[in-house]
Order: sequence, then C-alpha cells, then structure tokens
Amino acid sequence: MTNQGAKEYTFEALTDLWTGDADGKPGRTITTGLLGSIRWWFEVLVRGLGGGACDPTSSRNRCPDSRKKATDSGHHCVVCELFGCTGWARKFRFEVLDENGKAKAEQITKGQTFKLRFTPLRPILPQEWALLDLTLRLIAEYGAIGGKTVLKPSDEPSRVNKPHHRDYGLIQFIEGATSSPVTEAELRDYVTEHRWRQPQHDDFAWASLKNFWCVKGRYLARQNANASTFNRVIGRPEAKGQSSQGDSWLAGRRAGGQPKPQDPESKRVLSFKSPREAVRTFGFVQFLDELKNLGQELKTQLEKEWAGFEIAELKKKPDILDELFKAGA
Ligand SMILES: [Zn+2]
Repeated sequence: MTNQGAKEYTFEALTDLWTGDADGKPGRTITTGLLGSIRWWFEVLVRGLGGGACDPTSSRNRCPDSRKKATDSGHHCVVCELFGCTGWARKFRFEVLDENGKAKAEQITKGQTFKLRFTPLRPILPQEWALLDLTLRLIAEYGAIGGKTVLKPSDEPSRVNKPHHRDYGLIQFIEGATSSPVTEAELRDYVTEHRWRQPQHDDFAWASLKNFWCVKGRYLARQNANASTFNRVIGRPEAKGQSSQGDSWLAGRRAGGQPKPQDPESKRVLSFKSPREAVRTFGFVQFLDELKNLGQELKTQLEKEWAGFEIAELKKKPDILDELFKAGA
C-alpha cells in the first residue's frame, strides 16, 4: 500500500495523552483511542455546522440504517461517510507515528512530538479534508484529546501528582496539511445534504459546537477541602466528599438520558491547569439558553479566583470558527 495522497499532521504532546482504558494495553489502544476521540470532536463540529451525526457507541442510534443499501441516501450520516460504519468502510487508514515516522507503540508522553497520518483508501472530498483539518485544530486550540480527559486539576499541593488530578490530552499543533480552501458556507451545505442519514440527537444534542464554550488561560480546581471552583461552577457542593462521581461524559462513555437544567450533570466542564501555555477551561451547556448568561455567571462566581476576567474571554462557536478558519487559511 502506498501513502499517496496521505495527509500528515505533527503535534507536540503538552501533557501525557491518556488513550488506554484503566486496564487496557497501550499500542493498539493509542490508535483506536485517538481515532475515537477525533471522531467525537468531528461529530461536535458537524452538529455545530447544522449536520446530523450518529453516536457510534449507541446501538439505538448509530448508523447504518440497515433497511437501506450502503450507497442509498439515508444509509449513514455524514460522519460515518468518512469514518465508516457497519457496511461502509472507513475512507482512510489512520496511523500514529513517532517523530521518526515509526508506528507509535507506547503511550504518548509529555514533550513528545508525534504525527497523525491519514491515508486515503477511497477518494476523500475537499470538504471532508477541511472538516478533519478543522477538527484537529479545534482539539488542539480549544479542547483535549484522548479517552480520559475528565480529570480536573487540583490546587492542593498534596494532591497535585495524584493521577486523578493530572492533566491529560493537551496537544499543540505544530504543522499539518492545510486543505484546499473550503468556506464555512460550503461546509454547511455539505453536512446538510439530503443524502445523509439524520439521526435523532436527543440524548447528545449538547455535543455540538453550538453548545461549546472555552476560556483560555483560566482554570477551575479544588483549592482545599472546603473550596472547589470546579464544583462551584457546575453547581455541586464545594466541600470534599459530597460530590458524586460520574463525570465521565466525554469521549468513550457518554452520558445517557436527559439531564434537567438544574442537575449538576447537565453542566459538562473540563479544566486544565498545566502547562501554562495551554491552560484552559471548556464545556458544553445542555441548553443553548445557558450560554447567554454564562460569561456573567463565571465573572460573578469566580470574582476572586478569575481576577480581571472579561466576558469576551469566553469563546463560543462564532469566534472559534472564525479563528479556526483563519488559522487554516
Ligand atoms: Zn453515522
């Protein structure tokens, strides 16, 4: 097999990337974990552009529509078109390489340079490359990658190095194939074409760039046994030992059911304390209305900890897409 038409992206890991499960072996889990996470953010982008994306982990929801033939309209969604589903193969080969271009077998650790290579196995449209490009930039600039990006940092010195309080999954974009220019309008047209299956989004409509927000350079953490800015923002008791588990909503185990607005679980927030250049807090609101006042709420709730916070620091879809399109131009 050749690498003709392959596109490569080079990243530096700003933290360890955690792509295995608790007792999983690395190696294979690196590629499957990273690809799963890339797909998840690709879905977020597609929904944000008005398209439909199935949840491949949900047997009720995932593609294909088995009543149809693979080439029929409505057989699979626009994400499965590129990433594949039963009866429709993924359009590319995916490899994770070290800086010398050798397959990466061990976990990717902080400071390492690594490459993601996408080799077309069938023709990939410019719109698909552009969506992939934007997805990777979105992850690097505003999100995090990997299966265990659920962990929140701690300001408590004794807990800083406990695994549950380390930051995972931050990567820096070094260089990569920019695709031929495709406009936002062209991408919208593409993801909303009638030939794509339109899955019900009920349980995960929140996993959309429309519901996403990010504040760079600020983080949430537990300050001590009685104070946690993280819990304050998501509406949980701040004192230790009173909060429930179950934050594993991102990548992998997805929260089922429909949380109510007042449920803490409806607030999906991740925060990264280090390294300094990549500090960020991001989240998804359950209901779009919640985005309207979020900036003011953060300003009020975190008056002390986020000193000087300006509402304009809160980035939402329009700002983010603008910046991503500029960066890729
Ligand atoms: Zn699908």
